[in-house]
Amino acid sequence: MKVWPAISDIAKDVKSGKLKAGDLVNKSLAAIAEKSEYDAIISTLADSALAQAAEIDKNPQGRLSGVPFIAKDNFLTTSGKTTAASNILRPFEAPYNSTVIEKLEAEGAICVAKANLDAFAHGSSTENSDWFVTKHPLDKTRVPGGSSGGSAASVALQLAPFALGTDTGGSVRLPASFCGTVGYKPTYGLVSRSGVIAMASSTDVIGPLANSVDDVALVLDIISGQDELDSTTIERNEQAYTDLPSDIKGKKIGIIKEYFAEGLDSGVESAVKAAIRQLQAAGASAEKVSLPSLPLALAAYYIVCPAEVSSNLSRYDGQRFGYSALDAHDLNESYELSREQGFGAEAKRRIMIGTHVLSSGYYDAYYKKAQTVRTKIINEFRQAFLKYDFLVGPVAPMTAFKIGERANDPLQMYLCDIMTVAANMSGNPAISVPAGTADGLPVGLQIIGPMRGDRELLGFAKAFEEITR
Ligand code: GLN
Repeated sequence: MKVWPAISDIAKDVKSGKLKAGDLVNKSLAAIAEKSEYDAIISTLADSALAQAAEIDKNPQGRLSGVPFIAKDNFLTTSGKTTAASNILRPFEAPYNSTVIEKLEAEGAICVAKANLDAFAHGSSTENSDWFVTKHPLDKTRVPGGSSGGSAASVALQLAPFALGTDTGGSVRLPASFCGTVGYKPTYGLVSRSGVIAMASSTDVIGPLANSVDDVALVLDIISGQDELDSTTIERNEQAYTDLPSDIKGKKIGIIKEYFAEGLDSGVESAVKAAIRQLQAAGASAEKVSLPSLPLALAAYYIVCPAEVSSNLSRYDGQRFGYSALDAHDLNESYELSREQGFGAEAKRRIMIGTHVLSSGYYDAYYKKAQTVRTKIINEFRQAFLKYDFLVGPVAPMTAFKIGERANDPLQMYLCDIMTVAANMSGNPAISVPAGTADGLPVGLQIIGPMRGDRELLGFAKAFEEITR
């Protein structure tokens, strides 16, 4: 059940005095308390949120005036703690806010809580969190997807009207698909990552999750653009991401052949095919297209990603951030014990794989080959977008699975990402929009756009949402 109106309407009502920011924050905090058994939230920021709301109620301003939101707990916030759901950051208090949090707050939005995730965003189910497993909003025996599972569950449970996630290999789109929300991965570089805990820097992007494409687009409009604190950022579109072109008629869509292969759940396949038929009925032309390197994307991602993870996690040495082992006798032992005790199994696995594939004897055999595959993927997407406006397929081969079903088998867990990682390897924008259900569980349609085609992609997704509403 949808209890939050469109975020632009909430802000309008706050500015006209019809709604009070303080009441909205309290409503969100009450929902979080009431739905605490879903374990979507690591911590609430009640004091700072209520203080911000009081300021806004004195002088309501901004495009998100008084709108509460929830951030994945890998976004630095000066209030409360920022843990990345890892024991090694359990005591960590951030000295500054991430750029996106600053930009949202400047428009009157209020961060009310930090959401659960797989530790350091490594995972597809939140089962790698050092706190707890988030439960699926429709079935508590299932996972919400990951790694932004707490963010997606928060939106689906209506704890707040929107949430922030990060998508390094699918972590916004996958939980959005599992929970039946909209989840958007912008073009690489469109949103500043300053103040967001790095996972794999060449694929990390920040993305919003919300009840509608319009909400996601408004958030993107606010958070996108160059940032001097993140040298990888690109210029945003001159036109607003909110004033969207919304034609389906005449659009050419390529149905990614490689995503309809063995292993695809039949219920997911029928829901996605039905969605494509609806697009055709609304005037789009659709045909199968082959991107032959896509089946290699997962293997390449699980080399490039751990390589970058091993480098990014080297800063957690027990001296500078968060946890430090108290039983160490000297500096070297402090490094070793802090990392041994602070990191979970998945972070250690990625550090070992990453340092292995980067080591001089294996670099050519693994890392260099993976980068060659990456270039092929980039080129195949580029070629495909000469002919098609958008590419479509499922987000994942399955719907939300049972807690514990894949947790002990890392390869089974990695397979969840088989249809999302390619867009991260290439940098293309991609979205998950609700497209019905399979056995009562939500299924997302994945739509991928050309580089910097965020506006067009969001417009097309919105039009799809309208014909299926
Ligand atoms: N599930 C993928 C992984 O474990 C993607 C994670 C992400 O996008 N943060 O690497």
